Amino acid sequence: MSEKVVSIKCPTCSKEQTIKVPTSVFEEKKGGGTIKIQIHQGICCEHSFLSFFSSEGDNRGYETFDAAIDLTNYQDSKIEIFLKDILKKFGDHTINLMLHAILIDANIIVLHDKYVPDDNVSTKRLNIFLNKCLPPEYQKPLLFTSMLDRNYYKTQIDTALVINTTGIVEVQPWETIELSCEKRVISEALKILDPQLQPVILQEEFRQIFEKCKYFYEVLKEWHSIYFQDLINLFKARFPPKFSEYDYALYEQIVKSRFKGDTSRIKSPEKAKKKKQPSSTIYFF
Ligand SMILES: [Zn+2]
Repeated sequence: MSEKVVSIKCPTCSKEQTIKVPTSVFEEKKGGGTIKIQIHQGICCEHSFLSFFSSEGDNRGYETFDAAIDLTNYQDSKIEIFLKDILKKFGDHTINLMLHAILIDANIIVLHDKYVPDDNVSTKRLNIFLNKCLPPEYQKPLLFTSMLDRNYYKTQIDTALVINTTGIVEVQPWETIELSCEKRVISEALKILDPQLQPVILQEEFRQIFEKCKYFYEVLKEWHSIYFQDLINLFKARFPPKFSEYDYALYEQIVKSRFKGDTSRIKSPEKAKKKKQPSSTIYFF
């Protein structure tokens, strides 16, 4: 097995070390994407951290769990929850929907049949966890709120992802789209054994998605009107090599909803012909 020697430096104590990485790891990401390698305690020094590399093996930086997340507002919540706890509580499908809600900047509301104060521990912990998964500039204190179900049924908020008291998604405030991206980022995170570092993976994945969507948004802002194919070509040039129909659908949704981009500027004869899917408000498992 051929190996590549790369150098790493601990972001906490600055100790340097060279490590051998199988070249197959780099082959996998040829043509784009960041390779992340978890450096366990003892490999470089007494700290464990994540090291990011380009597909050429160039160092792209490090993350420690503490440095990645600024949680100064949430110090009082001592007991942490982790990805596996949330998966256990809500199930894979609901987690995928929650991540999608976060991507498009829709609120998440979980209904309760008894009164739960806004600052209850589990809401707090879930907010802490979900915020850890976002790049700092996208974090916000209440990604997730809980609500008394009878109050919800009075207001009928339809702009949030609403999960009812039985754990079923009651409102999905977006046009149905595959959740491949969400599934992929979760499985990427679960490959990292240290649960403290899993949110760092999610954060890096989200950062890359937002970077692409921001570019998409900038293009729309710059062009009064742009042909769909021209937009795709710009994208392919900027973020080679792959750009699927699904990627486009996902980014379009994020750009419209999170960045408030004007997607009507995209001129596309093919797209207009496609039948628009009805937006579903109730999701059945
Ligand atoms: Zn160290």
